[in-house]
Order: sequence, then C-alpha cells, then structure tokens
Amino acid sequence: MTGRSLATRACERLDSMKGAGASVPERLKRGSLPAPASWRGMDATILVVEDDRNIGSLVRTYLERDGYGVLWVRSGEEGLAELERHALSLVVLDVGLPGIDGFEVCRQIRARAETPVIMLTARDEEVDRVLGLELGADDYVPKPFSPRELVARVKAVLRRAQPQPPADVLTLGEVELRRGAREASRAGAALDLTMKEFDLLACFMENAGLALSREQLLEQVWGLEFPGGTRTVDQHVAQLRAKLGEALRIETLRGVGYKLVRP
Ligand code: CA
Repeated sequence: MTGRSLATRACERLDSMKGAGASVPERLKRGSLPAPASWRGMDATILVVEDDRNIGSLVRTYLERDGYGVLWVRSGEEGLAELERHALSLVVLDVGLPGIDGFEVCRQIRARAETPVIMLTARDEEVDRVLGLELGADDYVPKPFSPRELVARVKAVLRRAQPQPPADVLTLGEVELRRGAREASRAGAALDLTMKEFDLLACFMENAGLALSREQLLEQVWGLEFPGGTRTVDQHVAQLRAKLGEALRIETLRGVGYKLVRP
C-alpha cells in the first residue's frame, strides 16, 4: 500500500465512493430515455451532452458498440446534474447547447472534477479551440466529425487519464529504493531497513517536499485499521533518521508532522 501517492489513493477512494453511490438515474428508469442494455456494470460510463438528436444518437450508438456505457442528456444543466450523480469516465460535450453553453459547462466541470472532457463544436475556429483547451478540455473535435474518429479520441483520452502505475525505482539524492525487490541503498551500499521503515521511506520519497501529518503516515504505511497511535510513527521516523544519516533529512514540523526535505 505504500506504492501509491497520497493523491492517487485519495482519488481511488473518491472513485470507489462515487461508484458505490451510482445508480440508474430516475429518468432512465422512467423510460423517457432508453437505457442501453450495456449501461449497468460497465467500467467506463460516458456522458454525452448534445442537443442535436441525430448527432447524439449516432455518438451513443458508436460508443455503445465499442462497449462503453452511455448517458445522453440534451442540456448543460442536465449534464452537470448527471456529473453529481454518477462516477463518469469522460464527458463528450457539445459547445452549442440550449441554456448554458458547452464552454460554461466545461468550466463548471473543471471547477469540481477531474473528469476528462472532449468538446464538440460546429464553430471550427481557432479561437474556440484555444478557449476550449484553456478551459481544461482534453480534446476538441470539430463538426462534422466521423463517429469512428470520435471513438478513437475517446479511447486516447481515457488511456491518458489512466492513473500511471507507481515507479518501481525511487531515487532522491544518494538514496535509491527498489520497490519490487524491496531493496534500499545509499550511494550504492545496501540500507538495512525493516518492512515498515522501508514503507515509511517510500511514502516520504513519493511525497518529498510535502508536509505529511502523523495520521497520513499512519494511514499510508500501517493502514487505517492500525490500532496503535501516532507514537509509532515518531519511533519509526527516529529509526529511519538514524539509518539515513546525512543522506536524507526528515524535518519535524511542529504541530503538523514531518517533511522529507528535497536534497
Ligand atoms: Ca448543438
């Protein structure tokens, strides 16, 4: 559990919470929009915000054909509401919408979530492209587009949005950590660390330069279920400091916790 950054774990936790809360939207249950057979249980659910019936239907068909779950709404307001209700993998967002436009929807999505956004627009102007990207859109597809191209772009953006596996080798100054092999060395010489010291050092190195509270360290290294107190963290930090010597400096932040100083 030490192999992942605090941010990654926080996101994962958020995702699993969102996933657990996801349910079939009321509107789909009521049948005003047909619920695609493949919608439930899909890994990737894509929200399509498009008021044009033909384009929306085409996009949905192609995405479903590729195995994605699709929620299709026709206004930005509905799109933002869906974003609150579901764990979505990506948003395909038209610019020209009734009510608030796609740019404003994109701005509001970015203010509250990391969900990737691909913008569709009929206005094939450089200024729109730039505005869309500046607002945090991940890609931009000018209309008219081929549905196959859109699906290819969806795949590419989803691929990019995948969390990267943590690096196997962490290096900071003279200290090198090989996670897979669970080996640590200082200037090439092996460091003899216990399992928890190793995990603690990995956590510090991943978050070098950042203040970490004792509670964060406890959670990362020992897990939430650990019954002991934060004194355990202090003891292990002391042991780690003794073994690291001058190689890396772990600062005590009064009232906060610890920080590994970047060499
Ligand atoms: Ca439109």
